[in-house]
Amino acid sequence: MPSSTVENYLKAIWSLQGPVDDGELVLIGQVAEKLSVTPGTATTMMNQLEKKGLVEYRPRRGVRLKEEGRKAAMQVLRRHRLIETFLVEVMKLDWAEVHEDAEVLEHVVSDRLLRRMDEMLHHPTHDPHGAPIPSSDGELRQDGTAVLADCQPGRYLLKRVREDQPAFLQWLSELQLLPGTEFVLSAINSMAGTLSLQLGGQDVPVQISTPASRSLLVVKVN
Ligand SMILES: [Zn+2]
Repeated sequence: MPSSTVENYLKAIWSLQGPVDDGELVLIGQVAEKLSVTPGTATTMMNQLEKKGLVEYRPRRGVRLKEEGRKAAMQVLRRHRLIETFLVEVMKLDWAEVHEDAEVLEHVVSDRLLRRMDEMLHHPTHDPHGAPIPSSDGELRQDGTAVLADCQPGRYLLKRVREDQPAFLQWLSELQLLPGTEFVLSAINSMAGTLSLQLGGQDVPVQISTPASRSLLVVKVN
């Protein structure tokens, strides 16, 4: 099993690459920034990952995951998302407060425990934030969502929240804007930089900022 440091590097490269591998290289500076390490530290690690056959590293150009690296990143992501689901569904923790624990546990939970969690949860396909859970053979299905900030007025279903900050997630809970909620995007106020969302059973539309709306992934409802 790769060390937790290696796993965090693979996860960081994967998230910077995006779920669809278009062959583009990720800059080492971006990897370093994401992990809060110096570029020198990140470069040393890139040489190690290259030797292990996990990444393709081109000095001064960047890095991308090889198939083995992608598979390992998917296993960490699967562990992270299953653990978050377990903490919420079974241990009844708040969805806003499970990310940090999952960041630690994803590196230490054994395959045996993870299989048991998966069984107890009846093989969930999504985590509490609406993110798809990679299958045990490392496949990650694309969910066809759009970023709310890019949407036109209309009716939408919130599928996923792409943000880990507890305060942000708590704020969404207070607004009752959770994955699975339908709402109408009733107005885009570009001068104010806000969007008006009409939620069911509420008289006054909720106002959210454009940056906040970039964390909300939705599908159109007809
Ligand atoms: Zn998380």
